[in-house]
Amino acid sequence: MRINVLTIFPDYLEGPLSFSIPGRAREAGLVEYHVIDLRDYTHDRHRTTDDEPFGGGGGMVMKPEPFFEALEALGPAGPIVSLTPRGRPFDHEAAIRLALEGEVTLLCGRYKGIDERVAERWVTEEVSIGDYVLSGGEPAALVVIDAIVRLLPGALGDHDSASSDSFYDRQLSAPVYTRPAEYADLTVPEALRSGDHERIARWREARSKEATQRVRPDLLDLDAAD
Ligand code: SAH
Repeated sequence: MRINVLTIFPDYLEGPLSFSIPGRAREAGLVEYHVIDLRDYTHDRHRTTDDEPFGGGGGMVMKPEPFFEALEALGPAGPIVSLTPRGRPFDHEAAIRLALEGEVTLLCGRYKGIDERVAERWVTEEVSIGDYVLSGGEPAALVVIDAIVRLLPGALGDHDSASSDSFYDRQLSAPVYTRPAEYADLTVPEALRSGDHERIARWREARSKEATQRVRPDLLDLDAAD
C-alpha cells in the first residue's frame, strides 16, 4: 500500500510514522509513506501557502495552487481524503475500507482550512476524527494512517492480535491484566487466572457487553439495525 500525505509540516509526520506498528509495517514493506511538502509547489520567495479569506473574517485560508500542483505532479490513484472537522466521522468501518485500497492520499489543512476548490476538483471524501477542532490536519492524518496500517495483513505480530480489539465486533474490548496477580491490594479477576478457556471467554464476553452497554450503547443500536 502507498499512503501520500500533503502538508506544510512534513517533519511533523516523520517521527510518528517511524515508530511502533506504522514504522514496522514500513520496514516490512507492507506500506510506503510519501510525505509531500506543499511548499515545494509554491513559486514566490516566501513560499506562501495561505492568503486572506474572501468575504473577510479572521484567519487565513490555504491557497489552492500548491494542492493542485502537488496533486497534478503526484497523479494519485485511489481515494483522496481531506481531513476536516466538516467531514464524516472516521470509524472502524472507514479504516477497513481504506485499508483495502492500494493507494490513499491525505490532505492536511491549517489555519481556517483549505480553499474549497481543492475539494471541488480533487477530494473524494472528507473525514473528521472527532467533534473538536485541531490546529492542523497532521495529527488527524496520523490517526487515520495508524488505524489503517494496523489492519494490513501481517502488520500486527501475534501479540498485537486485532480480533480482540475494540470495535472488531462492535463491542468494546474486555479489560486486560498482566503479572503480578496481586498488586497494591488489587487482584486480577479469578476467571482470568483459572486456566479454563471457556470460563475466560465467558468472562471476557460479559465484560465486553457490560462496558459497551455502559459507555457506548450506540454501538449496540448499530448492531440491532443490521
Ligand atoms: N475552520 C475550520 C477548522 C480549521 S482547523 C472549521 O471550523 O471547520 C485547521 C485544520 O485542522 C483543518 O483544515 C483540518 O485539516 C484540521 N482539522 C481540525 N480539526 C479536525 C478534525 N476534527 N478532524 C480532522 N481534521 C481536523
